[in-house]
Amino acid sequence: MGSPADLHSHSTFSDGRLTPADLIDLAHRNGVRIMALTDHDIVDGLPQAFDAAGRHGDFTLIPGIEMSTDVPGNEVHLLGHFIDWQDETFRERLARLQESRLGRARKMVEKLQELGKPVAWERVEAFAGEGAVGRPHIALALVEAGHVASVSQAFDLYLSRTGPAYVERDRLAPKEVVELLLSVGGLATLAHPRDLREAGSLEPLLAELADAGLTGMEVYYQDYPPEEIERLRTLAGRFALLPLGGSDFHGLGGPQQREPGNIPLTMEPVERLLSLARSKGVLGRARGPAAK
Ligand SMILES: [Zn+2]
Ligand SMILES: [Zn+2]
Repeated sequence: MGSPADLHSHSTFSDGRLTPADLIDLAHRNGVRIMALTDHDIVDGLPQAFDAAGRHGDFTLIPGIEMSTDVPGNEVHLLGHFIDWQDETFRERLARLQESRLGRARKMVEKLQELGKPVAWERVEAFAGEGAVGRPHIALALVEAGHVASVSQAFDLYLSRTGPAYVERDRLAPKEVVELLLSVGGLATLAHPRDLREAGSLEPLLAELADAGLTGMEVYYQDYPPEEIERLRTLAGRFALLPLGGSDFHGLGGPQQREPGNIPLTMEPVERLLSLARSKGVLGRARGPAAK
């Protein structure tokens, strides 16, 4: 089941395994024609992504970002689409967030050392490449060092929120992230909300974020089954949010992972997102035939 649109993906600039160019070529081969690159807290992959997108005459790239925040007991991720990624103040804010991310990753590596599961910081950095160091890179270093058999085992045993090597980090509140994304003219979408729904924290959060100017919610995501999609669609409707979606492709493998475009996202809400961007005057921040 393929969609010509995919609004959520990661490259080597955050925690994906493909460069922006390889990611876009893969998406294009899969039939995707409208895509957003949404690396975690970083926009530095966008110039390469725009170059790659420009090599396909029929491909539209939306500049995006994914920002992490939390509510008690759960992570909340927000996507920003059509952001003014070159804005100085925004980029400084991201740089500060990245510094705290780096400090946090170092602390997790120290904890692993204390737990008798040492990994070399250099290896963690190498796995991160040009991107922001994060838990997936520590997980890969744990696999390489032979402490665990897989990335998912690394999370299960050490790196999950309840794991012994987990370290909290400084974050913005969800509403502050929406406001930050809006401040650079972006359209904000709540990412992968299933865990929040199951924890009972989704509806109050949607009420708060819809008020703050949230545009959409991911409804079509990775392995979400039809009944989950239906529940989320209904909720999106109640809060007047666009039912959007994406593969969240990282290239890391795993049972939930979907290839770019391999989600049942229909074009109707995507068209509505594009016309909303047009009416806000930010559609031109995307490049390609759908941005005209
Ligand atoms: Zn996420
Ligand atoms: Zn993501």
